[in-house]
Amino acid sequence: MLLTLTLMHEPAADLGYLLGKNPTRCQSFPLSFGQAHVFFPEVSPSRCTAALLLDIDPIGLVRNRRRPSGEGHSLQQYVNDRPYVASSFLSVALSQVFGSALGGRSRERPQLAETALPYEARLAVLPCRGGEGFLRRLFEPLGYNVAAQRHSLDPLFPEWGESPYYTVTLSGQCRLHDLLSHLYVLIPVLDNDKHYWVGDAEVEKLLHHGEGWLTAHPERENITRRYLKHRGELAKSALARIEQEESDDEESAPVEEVIEERARLNDVRLDAVQAALRESGAKRVLDLGCGEGKLLRALSRDPQFTEIVGVDVSPRALEIARLRLDRLPLDVQSRCRLLHGSLMYRDTRLSGFDAAAVVEVIEHLDPPRFSAFERVLFEFARPRAVVVTTPNVEYNVRFETLPAGSFRHKDHRFEWTRSQFQDWANGVARRFGYAVRFVAVGPEDEILGSPTQMGVFRQCPKN
Ligand code: SAH
Repeated sequence: MLLTLTLMHEPAADLGYLLGKNPTRCQSFPLSFGQAHVFFPEVSPSRCTAALLLDIDPIGLVRNRRRPSGEGHSLQQYVNDRPYVASSFLSVALSQVFGSALGGRSRERPQLAETALPYEARLAVLPCRGGEGFLRRLFEPLGYNVAAQRHSLDPLFPEWGESPYYTVTLSGQCRLHDLLSHLYVLIPVLDNDKHYWVGDAEVEKLLHHGEGWLTAHPERENITRRYLKHRGELAKSALARIEQEESDDEESAPVEEVIEERARLNDVRLDAVQAALRESGAKRVLDLGCGEGKLLRALSRDPQFTEIVGVDVSPRALEIARLRLDRLPLDVQSRCRLLHGSLMYRDTRLSGFDAAAVVEVIEHLDPPRFSAFERVLFEFARPRAVVVTTPNVEYNVRFETLPAGSFRHKDHRFEWTRSQFQDWANGVARRFGYAVRFVAVGPEDEILGSPTQMGVFRQCPKN
C-alpha cells in the first residue's frame, strides 16, 4: 500500500518539517499490523514528495485475530486485498506516523502548517465501494481535483470485468492537516470496512477529525454511517451531534450586524482599530476574539504588521476565518496565524506581542470570569498597546429595530454606558500599569455619544 504526498511550493523540502520527517532518510515504524516506511523519492526546490509505504503482514493479522472480513473462508484469511489497498490500516498509520501533522502541529514551521498550500495526494490502490461517482462526491465538495484510474480485475482476463480498485490523485490548495484529516476519515469510508471493533470512541474520532468540514458536507450521512461501520445507534448519535452543531451555528448568526446597519459601522470600527494599532508602532499584533477574521484580513494588507495572530474560542469561527484567509495571496497569508484558545486562561502563546486588539469581545465574556481575562491580557500577555472596543449602550435607543432594553446580540452578557466602560478601563490601567485614552467610533450623537466606544491602552514606562 503506497500513499504519496507532494508539496509544490518553494522551498518544497519544508514538507519534511511539516511531516516531522527528515527528507534525506528512510525511516521505518513498527505498527501492530506490520511496518510503515517513510521516504522521500523526490526533493527539489519546487516539488517534494513523501511516500508512506505500508507493509501489512497478513499472517500476523490472522495470528492477532485482526482478520479481514470473510474470515469464514479459510483461504481468504491469508489471501486478500488488505496488504495492497488503502484501508483503515492506512488511517491508523497516518495517525501514528504523521500524528503531529494530522493534528495541525509543526514545531519548526507552525505558520506553514496553518497555510493552504498546493498539495497532491496519490493513493496507488483505493477500493472505491460506491464507484467513481461516490469518490468524487466525497472529495470534490472539499475543493479537490480528483483524477481516478480504474483497474480491471485482471488485465489478462478482460472478460472478468472491472475491479472496485482505483489509482486516485487528489490535488488542491489546502492545509496539510486538512488533507490528512480528509484522508484519515474518507479512506475507510470508501473501503466501507474497518479492521477493528467500532465503538463509542469511534464517534469521537469522527467528530474530531471531521471538525470544520463534516457538518457542511453534502455526503455527511453516508460518511457517518460507513465510518461507523453501519452501526445504527452510533451513527444516529453522531448525526444528532453534527446537526446540533449546525443549529448552534445558525443561532449565533450575527443579528448585531443587521441592527448596526451592517457593514458601515463595522468598517468604521475596523478602520479606527487599525489606525490606533498603526499609531502604536506595533509590528506583531494579536487579534483576540478574532471571530471570522475581518480585522485580521485588513491588517494583513498593511505592510507595517509583520505578524498577525488571531485567537478565538470558537472552532467554527476559526474555520471560516481560515477559509477567507486562504483566498489571500500567499505572502499575505503567511503573515497571519490562527490559534484556538480562550481569553480566560493564561496562554504563553500570547506573550511577546507589540499590541493586541480586542474588538467587540469583552461584552461576550462572563462577568465572574472577567478578572481572569484582565490578568491574561494585561498581566501575562502584556503587549505594549491594547485596543478594546465595545458597544456604547446609551446609543441603543437610536437603533429603531432594537426593542428597548435589549442588547445588540443575544450572546452579550452586558453592554456598558460610557462611564461604566471608562471606570473599568481606568481601573485596569491603574492596576496593571497602563495609560488609557478613549475614542468615540461612528457617528456621534451630542447626548448619547457614538455607537462604539474604544479604549487605547499604552503600557507606562517602568521607572
Ligand atoms: N472581533 C470580531 C468578533 C467579535 S464577536 C469582530 O469584530 O468581528 C466575539 C468573538 O469573541 C466571537 O468570535 C467569540 O467566539 C469570541 N469569544 C467569546 N468568548 C471568548 C473567549 N473566552 N476566548 C476567546 N474568544 C472568545
